Amino acid sequence: MVGPVGEARVFRYADWDFVRKADSNPHFSALCLSDPQRCNAFSGLHRTLKGREQWMANHVQGTGHTEFQRNMGDTCTAIPPEGAVIAGEVVKALPADEHARTHP
Ligand SMILES: [Zn+2]
Repeated sequence: MVGPVGEARVFRYADWDFVRKADSNPHFSALCLSDPQRCNAFSGLHRTLKGREQWMANHVQGTGHTEFQRNMGDTCTAIPPEGAVIAGEVVKALPADEHARTHP
């Protein structure tokens, strides 16, 4: 809930929640970091860890490269704490039902 800015308190280090969305479509990827010249081969996005691991195994077999940066991504919703100022408006407390839905 957002209201107008008045005598707003400013929380510089307030607690925020970042809640993974139900349809977050998590994905996994890997980047080859092997030397001597950084390879930078990219696995693409995989829906499963196993898919990414298979790509890395194939890459090792084909190149002998064994150093990777692994990444995981998803989508989430940022939930500011009451009193935070968002786009010039003060966040008010969520109604109880909304709070329960977004804070499982
Ligand atoms: Zn490589």
